[in-house]
Amino acid sequence: ALGKQLTGSADVPPPITKVAGRSAGARVEGKVVIVTGANSILGIGRASSHQFAENGARAVYICDFDGSNLEAHKREINALYPAVDVHVRQFDASDEKAVKAVVDDALERYGRLDIFFANAGIVGPHQSFADMSKADFMKVLDVNVSNVWLAAKYGAPAMMKTSADKPASGGSIIGTASVAGLRSNAGSTPYSASKAAVVSLAQTIAYQLVGTNIRANAICPGIIETGMTAPTYEAARKRGTEKKIGQLNPLRRGGNADEIARVALFLGSDESSYVNGQAWAVDGGLSSGHPFVP
Ligand code: NAD
Repeated sequence: ALGKQLTGSADVPPPITKVAGRSAGARVEGKVVIVTGANSILGIGRASSHQFAENGARAVYICDFDGSNLEAHKREINALYPAVDVHVRQFDASDEKAVKAVVDDALERYGRLDIFFANAGIVGPHQSFADMSKADFMKVLDVNVSNVWLAAKYGAPAMMKTSADKPASGGSIIGTASVAGLRSNAGSTPYSASKAAVVSLAQTIAYQLVGTNIRANAICPGIIETGMTAPTYEAARKRGTEKKIGQLNPLRRGGNADEIARVALFLGSDESSYVNGQAWAVDGGLSSGHPFVP
């Protein structure tokens, strides 16, 4: 009966068409991945480099302008996933020459680049628009927006070297935006503006990569306990008000970096082969409504 409903005639539904490249447990098998903003111990970048390594990446470039933990992260990934090549690169992700150099290195060594996770970001001063200096405003915009643009500018041509043979997914560019880029935020003014720009970039890049099989998406994390939010969490713990951080969230908690990393893994993998030009809120539902104050 189900078959009849589906097809109008057959007794048995037609077999499901499986997407090429799906392989549970090795979701990015053989792929070459660049992750920026990977130094922070609690950060989304470090968590993501683990997800990519655990899921069969051939090589992961862990990049950050702060190199203080990168070698330790490399040793850790090497010990857990010895088959994965880990490359440490210390550079500013908004430096055009440096971004080009890391992409060139991937092409030289592996002849391919599959995933560029442009995740580096800064928050800037928590000031109202009226109080900010232009220098502070532009610094946040520059870092947060141009690192995603440069990932696409240099990453996409590298991905194109192999993308024609890979209709399921010829490459994936992922930018870390924020729910602050989707909804207003009383915190840092340029931060919200920059993250809205990252959402727009993902849409624009996806459209301009028409016909290449390369996808571009943005992840919009909610409140996640990372290096960026550590001072807020620490202060709240001292005051005993930690629970308040998740108070307005339908899940009644903040998130952790791995909950974002798992979405980065999905968007990097062929499992998301038809997800393109999207801004994915990964925020426990924070941006799905608005606080009701009776
Ligand atoms: P984090 O501070 O732990 O990590 C950010 C990393 O980016 C740091 O290691 C930092 O050194 C690096 N970085 C900053 N500027 C850089 C630059 N110019 N070049 C290279 N590296 C640079 O914070 P996180 O939360 O893991 O941040 C990752 C991304 O997630 C950021 O883009 C951030 O804006 C975004 N985000 C975070 C939250 C949150 O609640 N934590 C929410 C929404 C979005």
